[in-house]
Amino acid sequence: MPKSNFDCLTETDLVIAELIQCELQRQQNHLELIASENFTSPAVLAAQGSVLTNKYAEGLPGKRYYGGCEFIDEIEQLAIDRAKQLFNAAYANVQPHSGSQANFAVFSALLKPGDTILSLDLSHGGHLTHGSPVNLSGKLFRTIHYGVHPETEMLDYEQIRELAHQYSPQLIICGYTAYPRQIDFQQFRAIADEVNAYLLADMSHIAGLVATGYHPSPIPDCDVVTTTTHKTLRGPRGGMILSRDPELGKQFDRAVFPGTQGGPLEHVIAGKAVALGEALQPAFKSYIQQVVANAQVLAAQLQLQGIKIVSGGTDNHLLLIDLHPLKLTGKQADQLLGDINITVNKNTVPFDSQPPWITSGIRLGSPALTTRGMGSVEFAEIGKIISARLLEPNDAAIVKHCRQRVAQLCEAFPLYPHLNQKPLALISSAC
Ligand SMILES: *Cc1c(COP(=O)(O)O)cnc(C)c1O
Repeated sequence: MPKSNFDCLTETDLVIAELIQCELQRQQNHLELIASENFTSPAVLAAQGSVLTNKYAEGLPGKRYYGGCEFIDEIEQLAIDRAKQLFNAAYANVQPHSGSQANFAVFSALLKPGDTILSLDLSHGGHLTHGSPVNLSGKLFRTIHYGVHPETEMLDYEQIRELAHQYSPQLIICGYTAYPRQIDFQQFRAIADEVNAYLLADMSHIAGLVATGYHPSPIPDCDVVTTTTHKTLRGPRGGMILSRDPELGKQFDRAVFPGTQGGPLEHVIAGKAVALGEALQPAFKSYIQQVVANAQVLAAQLQLQGIKIVSGGTDNHLLLIDLHPLKLTGKQADQLLGDINITVNKNTVPFDSQPPWITSGIRLGSPALTTRGMGSVEFAEIGKIISARLLEPNDAAIVKHCRQRVAQLCEAFPLYPHLNQKPLALISSAC
């Protein structure tokens, strides 16, 4: 019998092997509602856990600093071509190690220290890398934030325009980490043109929706688009830079390497190529359609139970619960749901009364459980389970019942069953 890689790991390092099995079981036995997470296909796992991790390939396909890149070149070129095809972009760089790295490369290409960025406030759904003071972007650049409208909790393009004219930013950023509504890239383009700023869309969260037409594409209207590959796009953990403009693209290539990174992670790039190939198939479009439908069912079910949803609903794969009316914090709600094996993250809501490590909200997303095959019926049930737990946080009978309902859903929609190993020596004590 040939040995699997996992058999070899078990022989060499039983502790790590067991912890990986524990993590597999955790993923299998919990309802994963973190909006930025997903489950890649076994094909992506195989590409990423491959011998490609051994290869140095600084440079770009056909222009490398090391020998032996003939197969690596083909793999990376396929990833580039598929990214360009999927997003209808003239330029793609698939080397950024993460979404943050992609953003940093773009900043280093387009800005000089002291320049001004206009971006969404972190507490209204923006990302740390969009100029937060705790991130290098906020130390190198002056950041001005726009917010959502206090009543609609949606983007307020008039405010964005006013701030753009007042502060003349070199770069305007749209695209967010916790914003449940559609983004109007044409409005952003008009504003950027009025003040002669570059426009970056960070579509990390919505890339899968953009790829399938369930969110308008930023490519035609933005100078540059960054994304992660592991959220709705369902690939390996990583980033990409895309653009309509191949000339600007040359600057991004240099900004990635040698500007901000060394050797590309070619095993991850192979995983990106596989995921992009999957995203080009019709089945991926049906998947995203269900992701959006499921988020809407979840929002509607929670509202039916009297729970407040930021902006009153969702247009994409995520939603935010505003816990102020329930007199719970995000930290408490996260723990209450964790108790019944539902995984979420606490998140600030617009105009939050609590600090970011406590918050008054939780963020929920449908991508991961939709990958497990769950549909509208299951998401309505999940909405009922969450409401039951949050509305009666001190009821032990409800806790017990909720756990049973969660276990039933997990059993009915198995995850990676082919990866289950015979029990390892220590596994029962480990997890
Ligand atoms: C997730 C995310 C990122 C960062 O991605 P990492 O891969 O974690 O570095 C950047 N921008 C936005 C809008 C995101 O949602």
